[in-house]
Amino acid sequence: MRQRIAVIGAGPAGLTFARVLHRHDHPVTVFERDPAPDARPQGGTLDLHRNLGQLAMSKAGLLEEFQALSRPEGQAMRILDTDGTVLRDWPHNPDDDANPEIDRGRLRDLLLGSLDVQWGRGVTEVVPGTPDGVLVRFADGRQETFDLVAGADGAWSRVRPAVSSVTPHYTGVTTVETSIDDVDVRHPGLARLIGDGSVAVYGVNRGVVAQRNSGGHVKVYAQFRAPLDWHANPDANPDAGSDAGSDAGPDQAGAETLRSRVLALFDGWSAPVLDLLRHGTAFVHRPLYVLPVGHTWAHVRGVTLLGDAAHLMPPLGVGANLAMLEGAELAEAVATASGHDDLDRVVRAFEEQMWARAGRWAKFATAGLERLVSPDPADAIALFDEVNAS
Ligand SMILES: Cc1cc2nc3c(=O)[nH]c(=O)nc-3n(C[C@H](O)[C@H](O)[C@H](O)COP(=O)(O)OP(=O)(O)OC[C@H]3O[C@@H](n4cnc5c(N)ncnc54)[C@H](O)[C@@H]3O)c2cc1C
Repeated sequence: MRQRIAVIGAGPAGLTFARVLHRHDHPVTVFERDPAPDARPQGGTLDLHRNLGQLAMSKAGLLEEFQALSRPEGQAMRILDTDGTVLRDWPHNPDDDANPEIDRGRLRDLLLGSLDVQWGRGVTEVVPGTPDGVLVRFADGRQETFDLVAGADGAWSRVRPAVSSVTPHYTGVTTVETSIDDVDVRHPGLARLIGDGSVAVYGVNRGVVAQRNSGGHVKVYAQFRAPLDWHANPDANPDAGSDAGSDAGPDQAGAETLRSRVLALFDGWSAPVLDLLRHGTAFVHRPLYVLPVGHTWAHVRGVTLLGDAAHLMPPLGVGANLAMLEGAELAEAVATASGHDDLDRVVRAFEEQMWARAGRWAKFATAGLERLVSPDPADAIALFDEVNAS
């Protein structure tokens, strides 16, 4: 008899898991809280690393489609100082396909394909060890049981409490995010500054990064150290661990307040850098939360975690990559398991492997955030030099 498998969350982890199981003709039920695939904007661009996200796409049989949609030129990067002087300029090397960029929305659509997702099915609780398996309770009052429940429900996972009492804590670093549309036509000077990829500017304990997405869309992130209550957050989705958008609708007054508060923090920086913030729309305040580095748990039969639910870490370009590879690896393991005991054995082995790899990356990302938002801006540049040299 086939195992009854559920995954909670249709983000990068959950969809890759479902897609790879699908490829192995193994049934899986995907539950997602969002009411519809287009319920909210999917956020900025992601670079998929060859040995992580691209490997996951390959396991899902989607590598060629990814390559057709991705933007290798998005790997270009420039670093300026706060006066606007170019300190580093790494153009895209046409032979380099190590980390091509893709818009989150495009990646999500690619992974979704013909998968059957149950939208509007927010999970409230997961109870392991009932006589019929693992019980999943939903916000709509319904409940169902499964042999394995994979929690891929992000930073504020409702599945996590079934295996771990640990909750995310604030890093002390906040991001304010905004966007510019149609940059090539409306702001050609900024378009040249950003180039095909990203531009980053680092000052004392703060920085601004602008990243080109497809279609002339630019995401701008201002990062700085601030108390958690630096800004009341009426428009943000408190559950969003990724940079996916809010479903609360635009709050123009809140956006203007945020814009002027952020501009005050970057007072004295060169005009083009400030223009990235002046021309932005839809400002969102996103304090950065993390789980402890090396978060693990005592194995619980029938429940596991994937991606941010397992190891939320600072956004240094690896969270979605890990989430996808974990989804693919767990799916491959589950597809080979025969019987309940074998399923439990492969899930345990998967967890050991995930914890070891995610622990190493969480250490890197945690140290990296300290260097990117540092009293000495030279730390940030040294970090990029080291990553580029490796
Ligand atoms: C500003 C920013 C930039 C980033 N840039 C990068 C990058 O360039 N590269 C990279 O690799 N990573 C990046 N990351 C990290 C990346 O966004 C996350 O690691 C990744 O999205 C994690 O994927 P996930 O599937 O585990 O969780 P999520 O993407 O958070 O998806 C979770 C899904 O579960 C759903 N859900 C939540 N609760 C429930 C519930 N109770 N019931 C049902 N469904 C639920 C959510 O609606 C969502 O669809 C960035 C993060 C931030 C904040």
